[in-house]
Amino acid sequence: MNCEFCGGKTEKKKVKRQHWLHGKLYIVENVEAEVCSECGERYFHAKILDGIDSLLESTHKIKERLEVEVVSL
Ligand SMILES: [Zn+2]
Repeated sequence: MNCEFCGGKTEKKKVKRQHWLHGKLYIVENVEAEVCSECGERYFHAKILDGIDSLLESTHKIKERLEVEVVSL
């Protein structure tokens, strides 16, 4: 597909995504996305996002836990 912002070509890649669900933040690795080769914008199919939701809502393996800093500008 072409990027909505810059018109550049996107390519399929596996990326790491910050994903919010029910007020909790998750880092999900190995997520399929279309990534713009020009500006780096990432596009996720709704089907992939629904898949993440259902994985997180069911019993799943936790690879690692991170402590996250919240800051303000
Ligand atoms: Zn772009």
